[in-house]
Amino acid sequence: NIGTRVKLADGNEMPIQGLGVYKMTDEQQLINSVKTAYNTGYRLFDTAQMYKNEAAVGQALKELGADRKEIFVTTKIDEENQGYDGVMKSFEESLKKLQLDYVDLLLVHWPIHQHFFETWRAFEQLKAEGLVKSIGTSNYGMLHLEYLKTKANEMPVVDQIENHPYLSQESMLEFNRENNIVTQAWAPLGRGRIFDDPTLVQIANAHQKSTAQVILRWHLQRGNSFIPKSVHENRIVENGSIYDFELTDEEMSLIAGMNKNTRISQEPEMVY
Ligand code: NAD
Repeated sequence: NIGTRVKLADGNEMPIQGLGVYKMTDEQQLINSVKTAYNTGYRLFDTAQMYKNEAAVGQALKELGADRKEIFVTTKIDEENQGYDGVMKSFEESLKKLQLDYVDLLLVHWPIHQHFFETWRAFEQLKAEGLVKSIGTSNYGMLHLEYLKTKANEMPVVDQIENHPYLSQESMLEFNRENNIVTQAWAPLGRGRIFDDPTLVQIANAHQKSTAQVILRWHLQRGNSFIPKSVHENRIVENGSIYDFELTDEEMSLIAGMNKNTRISQEPEMVY
Protein backbone atom coordinates (compact mmCIF):
# COMPACT_ATOMS: atom_id res chain seq x y z
CA ASN A 1 0.00 0.00 0.00
CA ILE A 2 0.96 3.69 -0.03
CA GLY A 3 2.74 3.37 3.27
CA THR A 4 5.19 0.69 2.03
CA ARG A 5 8.77 1.67 2.77
CA VAL A 6 12.10 0.98 1.14
CA LYS A 7 15.29 0.48 3.13
CA LEU A 8 17.96 3.06 2.38
CA ALA A 9 21.71 2.37 2.40
CA ASP A 10 22.07 4.26 5.72
CA GLY A 11 19.59 1.92 7.44
CA ASN A 12 16.65 4.35 7.46
CA GLU A 13 13.37 3.57 5.75
CA MET A 14 11.54 5.81 3.29
CA PRO A 15 7.97 5.50 2.00
CA ILE A 16 8.13 4.57 -1.68
CA GLN A 17 5.27 6.88 -2.67
CA GLY A 18 4.92 10.50 -1.65
CA LEU A 19 3.15 13.75 -2.41
CA GLY A 20 5.10 16.43 -4.29
CA VAL A 21 4.10 20.01 -3.52
CA TYR A 22 5.92 21.96 -6.25
CA LYS A 23 3.90 24.98 -7.41
CA MET A 24 1.46 24.72 -4.53
CA THR A 25 1.62 28.36 -3.58
CA ASP A 26 -1.86 28.78 -2.15
CA GLU A 27 -1.33 28.00 1.52
CA GLN A 28 -4.83 26.71 2.24
CA GLN A 29 -4.83 24.57 -0.89
CA LEU A 30 -1.50 23.05 0.14
CA ILE A 31 -2.73 22.35 3.65
CA ASN A 32 -5.86 20.66 2.28
CA SER A 33 -3.80 18.59 -0.16
CA VAL A 34 -1.38 17.38 2.52
CA LYS A 35 -4.28 16.48 4.80
CA THR A 36 -6.10 14.62 2.03
CA ALA A 37 -2.91 12.76 1.17
CA TYR A 38 -2.25 11.88 4.80
CA ASN A 39 -5.77 10.58 5.27
CA THR A 40 -5.34 8.51 2.10
CA GLY A 41 -2.20 6.91 3.54
CA TYR A 42 0.62 9.04 2.10
CA ARG A 43 3.42 9.54 4.60
CA LEU A 44 6.13 11.18 2.46
CA PHE A 45 5.90 14.88 1.64
CA ASP A 46 8.37 16.46 -0.77
CA THR A 47 9.04 20.19 -0.55
CA ALA A 48 12.05 22.47 -1.22
CA GLN A 49 13.37 25.87 -0.24
CA MET A 50 12.72 26.92 -3.83
CA TYR A 51 8.99 26.10 -3.63
CA LYS A 52 8.54 28.76 -0.92
CA ASN A 53 5.96 26.61 0.82
CA GLU A 54 7.88 24.89 3.62
CA ALA A 55 5.93 26.93 6.18
CA ALA A 56 2.61 25.74 4.77
CA VAL A 57 3.83 22.13 4.86
CA GLY A 58 4.83 22.65 8.49
CA GLN A 59 1.44 24.15 9.26
CA ALA A 60 -0.38 21.24 7.61
CA LEU A 61 1.64 18.66 9.57
CA LYS A 62 1.05 20.54 12.79
CA GLU A 63 -2.70 20.68 12.20
CA LEU A 64 -2.71 16.96 11.42
CA GLY A 65 -1.01 16.29 14.73
CA ALA A 66 0.44 13.10 13.29
CA ASP A 67 3.11 11.08 15.05
CA ARG A 68 6.42 12.54 13.89
CA LYS A 69 7.97 9.12 13.42
CA GLU A 70 5.23 8.17 10.97
CA ILE A 71 5.80 11.17 8.72
CA PHE A 72 8.69 11.47 6.27
CA VAL A 73 9.59 15.02 5.21
CA THR A 74 11.98 15.86 2.40
CA THR A 75 13.30 19.32 1.65
CA LYS A 76 16.00 20.58 -0.72
CA ILE A 77 18.71 23.21 -0.49
CA ASP A 78 18.32 25.91 -3.10
CA GLU A 79 21.17 26.64 -5.52
CA GLU A 80 21.81 30.08 -4.03
CA ASN A 81 22.24 28.51 -0.59
CA GLN A 82 24.92 26.02 -1.56
CA GLY A 83 28.30 26.13 0.20
CA TYR A 84 29.00 25.16 3.82
CA ASP A 85 27.66 28.29 5.53
CA GLY A 86 24.78 28.70 3.09
CA VAL A 87 23.55 25.18 3.74
CA MET A 88 23.86 25.45 7.51
CA LYS A 89 22.13 28.81 7.73
CA SER A 90 19.35 28.16 5.24
CA PHE A 91 18.69 24.71 6.67
CA GLU A 92 18.10 26.24 10.08
CA GLU A 93 15.47 28.49 8.49
CA SER A 94 13.88 25.54 6.68
CA LEU A 95 13.61 23.64 9.93
CA LYS A 96 11.93 26.62 11.58
CA LYS A 97 9.45 27.04 8.74
CA LEU A 98 8.64 23.33 8.83
CA GLN A 99 8.25 23.53 12.63
CA LEU A 100 10.33 20.36 12.93
CA ASP A 101 13.32 19.20 15.00
CA TYR A 102 14.74 17.26 12.06
CA VAL A 103 13.98 16.42 8.45
CA ASP A 104 14.01 12.86 7.20
CA LEU A 105 15.73 13.57 3.90
CA LEU A 106 17.72 16.58 2.73
CA LEU A 107 18.61 16.87 -0.95
CA VAL A 108 21.01 19.05 -2.89
CA HIS A 109 18.44 20.44 -5.33
CA TRP A 110 20.70 20.78 -8.34
CA PRO A 111 24.38 20.08 -9.15
CA ILE A 112 26.41 23.26 -9.52
CA HIS A 113 30.14 23.69 -9.82
CA GLN A 114 30.55 26.29 -7.10
CA HIS A 115 30.90 24.83 -3.59
CA PHE A 116 30.30 21.30 -4.92
CA PHE A 117 32.17 19.50 -2.12
CA GLU A 118 31.59 22.13 0.58
CA THR A 119 27.86 21.73 0.14
CA TRP A 120 28.15 18.01 0.70
CA ARG A 121 30.41 18.48 3.73
CA ALA A 122 27.61 20.53 5.32
CA PHE A 123 25.14 17.74 4.51
CA GLU A 124 27.37 15.20 6.26
CA GLN A 125 27.65 17.54 9.23
CA LEU A 126 23.86 17.99 9.51
CA LYS A 127 23.45 14.23 9.43
CA ALA A 128 26.10 13.77 12.12
CA GLU A 129 24.20 16.28 14.28
CA GLY A 130 20.97 14.34 13.80
CA LEU A 131 19.18 17.31 12.25
CA VAL A 132 18.83 15.33 9.05
CA LYS A 133 18.28 11.58 9.07
CA SER A 134 19.30 10.87 5.47
CA ILE A 135 21.18 12.86 2.84
CA GLY A 136 20.79 12.74 -0.91
CA THR A 137 21.04 14.56 -4.19
CA SER A 138 18.72 15.68 -6.93
CA ASN A 139 19.38 15.98 -10.65
CA TYR A 140 22.79 14.34 -10.23
CA GLY A 141 23.90 12.14 -13.11
CA MET A 142 26.44 9.35 -13.02
CA LEU A 143 29.41 11.66 -13.48
CA HIS A 144 28.25 14.01 -10.71
CA LEU A 145 27.95 11.06 -8.35
CA GLU A 146 31.31 9.60 -9.40
CA TYR A 147 32.89 13.01 -8.82
CA LEU A 148 31.21 13.33 -5.42
CA LYS A 149 32.55 9.90 -4.50
CA THR A 150 36.14 11.14 -4.83
CA LYS A 151 35.76 13.19 -1.63
CA ALA A 152 32.55 12.18 0.15
CA ASN A 153 32.67 10.31 3.44
CA GLU A 154 29.11 9.14 2.89
CA MET A 155 27.36 8.80 -0.42
CA PRO A 156 23.80 10.00 -1.14
CA VAL A 157 21.19 7.35 -0.36
CA VAL A 158 18.61 8.88 -2.69
CA ASP A 159 18.95 10.61 -6.07
CA GLN A 160 15.79 12.41 -7.15
CA ILE A 161 15.74 12.79 -10.92
CA GLU A 162 13.33 13.60 -13.70
CA ASN A 163 11.88 10.25 -14.68
CA HIS A 164 8.75 9.27 -16.60
CA PRO A 165 7.93 7.13 -19.64
CA TYR A 166 9.36 9.75 -22.04
CA LEU A 167 12.62 9.90 -20.04
CA SER A 168 13.05 6.38 -18.70
CA GLN A 169 16.66 6.82 -17.47
CA GLU A 170 17.46 3.08 -17.74
CA SER A 171 21.23 3.41 -17.35
CA MET A 172 20.90 5.90 -14.49
CA LEU A 173 18.60 3.49 -12.65
CA GLU A 174 21.12 0.71 -13.19
CA PHE A 175 23.96 2.90 -11.91
CA ASN A 176 21.96 3.86 -8.81
CA ARG A 177 21.08 0.24 -8.09
CA GLU A 178 24.75 -0.74 -8.28
CA ASN A 179 25.64 2.09 -5.91
CA ASN A 180 22.88 1.46 -3.37
CA ILE A 181 21.16 4.72 -4.22
CA VAL A 182 17.35 4.75 -4.39
CA THR A 183 16.10 6.52 -7.50
CA GLN A 184 13.20 8.85 -6.78
CA ALA A 185 11.24 10.03 -9.79
CA TRP A 186 10.24 13.68 -10.05
CA ALA A 187 7.57 14.57 -12.59
CA PRO A 188 6.71 10.86 -12.42
CA LEU A 189 3.60 11.63 -14.50
CA GLY A 190 5.57 13.64 -17.03
CA ARG A 191 3.89 16.64 -15.40
CA GLY A 192 0.55 15.51 -16.76
CA ARG A 193 1.54 15.90 -20.41
CA ILE A 194 1.61 12.27 -21.49
CA PHE A 195 -1.79 10.95 -20.46
CA ASP A 196 -3.07 10.76 -24.05
CA ASP A 197 -0.27 8.49 -25.23
CA PRO A 198 -2.01 5.61 -27.04
CA THR A 199 0.22 2.95 -25.45
CA LEU A 200 -0.77 4.13 -21.99
CA VAL A 201 -4.44 4.48 -22.90
CA GLN A 202 -4.52 0.92 -24.22
CA ILE A 203 -2.89 -0.51 -21.10
CA ALA A 204 -5.14 1.57 -18.84
CA ASN A 205 -8.25 0.29 -20.60
CA ALA A 206 -7.10 -3.30 -20.20
CA HIS A 207 -6.88 -2.84 -16.43
CA GLN A 208 -9.84 -0.46 -16.00
CA LYS A 209 -7.37 2.03 -14.51
CA SER A 210 -6.43 5.59 -15.43
CA THR A 211 -3.27 6.34 -17.40
CA ALA A 212 -1.90 8.11 -14.31
CA GLN A 213 -2.33 4.91 -12.31
CA VAL A 214 -0.62 2.86 -15.02
CA ILE A 215 2.39 5.19 -15.05
CA LEU A 216 2.74 5.12 -11.26
CA ARG A 217 2.41 1.34 -11.23
CA TRP A 218 5.24 1.20 -13.81
CA HIS A 219 7.46 3.22 -11.43
CA LEU A 220 6.55 0.91 -8.56
CA GLN A 221 7.35 -2.26 -10.50
CA ARG A 222 10.70 -0.79 -11.62
CA GLY A 223 11.63 -0.38 -7.96
CA ASN A 224 11.57 3.43 -7.96
CA SER A 225 10.28 5.85 -5.40
CA PHE A 226 7.89 8.48 -6.86
CA ILE A 227 6.23 11.68 -5.71
CA PRO A 228 3.33 12.71 -7.97
CA LYS A 229 1.77 16.09 -7.36
CA SER A 230 -1.92 16.94 -7.33
CA VAL A 231 -4.11 19.41 -5.47
CA HIS A 232 -7.34 17.58 -6.33
CA GLU A 233 -8.72 15.23 -3.73
CA ASN A 234 -9.96 12.68 -6.27
CA ARG A 235 -6.59 12.59 -8.05
CA ILE A 236 -4.59 12.32 -4.82
CA VAL A 237 -6.72 9.30 -3.95
CA GLU A 238 -6.56 7.93 -7.50
CA ASN A 239 -2.75 8.19 -7.54
CA GLY A 240 -2.64 6.20 -4.32
CA SER A 241 -4.81 3.35 -5.64
CA ILE A 242 -2.19 1.44 -7.58
CA TYR A 243 -1.65 -1.47 -5.25
CA ASP A 244 -4.48 -3.69 -6.50
CA PHE A 245 -3.30 -4.51 -10.01
CA GLU A 246 -0.14 -5.58 -11.78
CA LEU A 247 1.37 -4.78 -15.17
CA THR A 248 2.54 -7.77 -17.18
CA ASP A 249 6.15 -8.03 -18.38
CA GLU A 250 4.90 -7.23 -21.84
CA GLU A 251 3.15 -4.07 -20.65
CA MET A 252 6.26 -3.04 -18.73
CA SER A 253 8.33 -3.30 -21.88
CA LEU A 254 5.72 -1.50 -23.98
CA ILE A 255 6.02 1.45 -21.59
CA ALA A 256 9.82 1.18 -21.65
CA GLY A 257 9.53 1.49 -25.42
CA MET A 258 7.92 4.93 -25.06
CA ASN A 259 11.24 6.52 -24.07
CA LYS A 260 12.11 9.61 -26.13
CA ASN A 261 14.87 10.99 -23.91
CA THR A 262 13.01 14.29 -23.72
CA ARG A 263 13.32 16.44 -20.63
CA ILE A 264 11.01 18.93 -18.95
CA SER A 265 14.02 20.41 -17.14
CA GLN A 266 17.23 21.69 -18.58
CA GLU A 267 20.10 19.22 -18.76
CA PRO A 268 22.01 19.35 -15.44
CA GLU A 269 25.36 21.11 -16.01
CA MET A 270 28.67 19.30 -15.94
CA VAL A 271 30.49 20.41 -12.82
CA TYR A 272 33.92 18.80 -12.92
P1 NAD B 1 3.99 15.33 -11.94
O1 NAD B 1 4.53 14.41 -12.95
O2 NAD B 1 3.77 14.85 -10.57
O3 NAD B 1 2.64 15.89 -12.57
C1 NAD B 1 1.82 16.73 -11.84
C2 NAD B 1 0.65 17.21 -12.70
O4 NAD B 1 -0.03 16.09 -13.26
C3 NAD B 1 -0.37 17.92 -11.85
O5 NAD B 1 -0.12 19.30 -11.82
C4 NAD B 1 -1.68 17.60 -12.52
O6 NAD B 1 -1.92 18.56 -13.50
C5 NAD B 1 -1.42 16.29 -13.17
N1 NAD B 1 -2.02 15.14 -12.45
C6 NAD B 1 -1.56 14.55 -11.31
N2 NAD B 1 -2.29 13.46 -11.01
C7 NAD B 1 -3.22 13.35 -11.99
C8 NAD B 1 -4.27 12.42 -12.25
N3 NAD B 1 -4.48 11.38 -11.45
N4 NAD B 1 -5.03 12.62 -13.34
C9 NAD B 1 -4.83 13.67 -14.17
N5 NAD B 1 -3.85 14.57 -13.98
C10 NAD B 1 -3.06 14.42 -12.89
O7 NAD B 1 4.92 16.65 -11.96
P2 NAD B 1 5.69 17.54 -10.89
O8 NAD B 1 4.78 18.23 -9.96
O9 NAD B 1 6.62 18.37 -11.66
O10 NAD B 1 6.58 16.50 -10.07
C11 NAD B 1 6.16 15.92 -8.85
C12 NAD B 1 6.98 16.44 -7.69
O11 NAD B 1 8.38 16.22 -7.91
C13 NAD B 1 6.90 17.95 -7.48
O12 NAD B 1 5.69 18.36 -6.92
C14 NAD B 1 8.11 18.19 -6.64
O13 NAD B 1 7.85 17.84 -5.30
C15 NAD B 1 9.12 17.24 -7.27
N6 NAD B 1 9.99 17.92 -8.26
C16 NAD B 1 11.34 17.95 -8.03
C17 NAD B 1 12.20 18.56 -8.92
C18 NAD B 1 13.67 18.58 -8.65
O14 NAD B 1 14.41 19.28 -9.35
N7 NAD B 1 14.14 17.83 -7.68
C19 NAD B 1 11.70 19.17 -10.07
C20 NAD B 1 10.33 19.13 -10.30
C21 NAD B 1 9.49 18.49 -9.40
